[in-house]
Amino acid sequence: MFCQQCEQTAKGIACTTMGVCGKKEEVADLQDLLIHAVQGLCLYSDAARKKGITDPATSLFICEAIFSTLTNVNFDPERFVALINKTVELREAMKAKSGADFNVPAATFTPAADFQGLVEQGKAHSLNTDENEDIKSLKHITLFGLKGVAAYADHARILGQEDDAVYAYIDEAMATILRDDVQLDELVALALKCGEANLKAMELLDSGNTGKYGHPVPTEVPLGAKKGKAILVSGHDLQDLELILKQSEGKGINVYTHGEMLPCHGYPELKKYDHFYGHYGTAWQNQKKEFAEFPGAVVMTTNCIQDPKAYMDSIFTSGLVGWPGVTHLGDKDFSPAIDKALAMDGFSEDTDKGSVMVGFARNAVLGVADKVIEAVKNKDIRHFFLVGGCDGAKTGRNYYTEFVEQIPTDCMVLTLACGKFRFFDKKLGDIGGIPRLLDIGQCNDAYSAIQIAVALAGAFDCDVNDLPLSMVLSWYEQKAVAILLTLLHLGIKDIRLGPSLPAFITPNVLNVLVENFNIMPISTPEEDLKAILG
Ligand code: SF4
Repeated sequence: MFCQQCEQTAKGIACTTMGVCGKKEEVADLQDLLIHAVQGLCLYSDAARKKGITDPATSLFICEAIFSTLTNVNFDPERFVALINKTVELREAMKAKSGADFNVPAATFTPAADFQGLVEQGKAHSLNTDENEDIKSLKHITLFGLKGVAAYADHARILGQEDDAVYAYIDEAMATILRDDVQLDELVALALKCGEANLKAMELLDSGNTGKYGHPVPTEVPLGAKKGKAILVSGHDLQDLELILKQSEGKGINVYTHGEMLPCHGYPELKKYDHFYGHYGTAWQNQKKEFAEFPGAVVMTTNCIQDPKAYMDSIFTSGLVGWPGVTHLGDKDFSPAIDKALAMDGFSEDTDKGSVMVGFARNAVLGVADKVIEAVKNKDIRHFFLVGGCDGAKTGRNYYTEFVEQIPTDCMVLTLACGKFRFFDKKLGDIGGIPRLLDIGQCNDAYSAIQIAVALAGAFDCDVNDLPLSMVLSWYEQKAVAILLTLLHLGIKDIRLGPSLPAFITPNVLNVLVENFNIMPISTPEEDLKAILG
């Protein structure tokens, strides 16, 4: 086992015996074999595409297979066995369609007939290859960024949005990183192209979310509880939440969001449900304590699941999420979770824990753009800080809380993704009636933040890099890698990144990023604020 795809990787180097996330060695080996198999499928899909042959169903499967290997998505080995066998089946079909014939292991291997044989095959295709460290680093950056692209493309497809350009990039990139002869400059270009593909995937997802559920509007969300039966919905999948709201309507159950589902309260077509009550808990890494205390059923719709052994009978998975022994609701019938919620105690009384505001996505923010621009021109707003990204367990992440606390009162704070739980309930006041803390949404809504920045740059007739805007980002898993590559593809400079730099970036590759984009690690809130504001 060799896994270094996320920020909490063991000793800041790699998980080699068991994942810090809870991933067992056999699951890591099967994930590596699945990626190897998908590379073979992509070789043929890429070749077919060059002949004008595409197959959207196969492309969607490729996204789902890759998304399954993202951190904290699927820990169930049996599901990987099925995915590996299906990948090879599709590879052979695509080989026949393409007329191509590749004589490389990914394109020819036959899955072992038994479980242990597959695990052994996976070990032979570890990501810890013995090639040049910088080549390996750039291949890993691209592969991990690709996992984020696959996740966004899958989310978008669920909402009826897809674009073959995204699928074409995935095929091309998976085929390219298989090559032994690929050169450094080719890989740098491929990684930046990953950012471009991700921008497209995020745009599709934005269209899916806003097209189906309307543009988010500013909405107050209670953090306490309402007496009665309860279901908690975690993850990122808006359609799963909608289905749960529909299927539980009229049953006397209140539906709560957890983690990255918080921004869903701002969508008109979701907030219209009377029993869509409030938000429970904080970021993903606190779920073991928070879920154990929740007196109702929990549904995990996407990443990020952790070992649920203390509440195995009240947690359910959906979509690509999996944990051995947890009931998987693969057919979008959420009645087992609803029945479980009805059988559990629910909250015994109302509790008031205050509230937060959500719903400041691009439409809401740009709706008051005139006020914002005037406030900047009048010097009422000195600077914008985008403080966003993933949360995680490391103590160094307190930086983000302290950073926001120390931002002067004439500056705005834009945020998105679960990193906001470090400061989401702070009362930062307003500037001329505009709240100082604006929650743009999930990590899936990074497109919205980019659109706000681009619109502001247009209004001030300058480049995004010349705006009074600083990005102070936190990363944890591979969607964050994809978003970072998108920002680099757009030419955004001076990004501060923490809490630590990725283990898969070598000093030479980091130098390329520093020289071209002036990307830098976070230091201390005091030093960074001084450097930015002077
Ligand atoms: S996903 Fe992260 S924590 Fe899990 S095994 Fe890989 S590097 Fe380790």
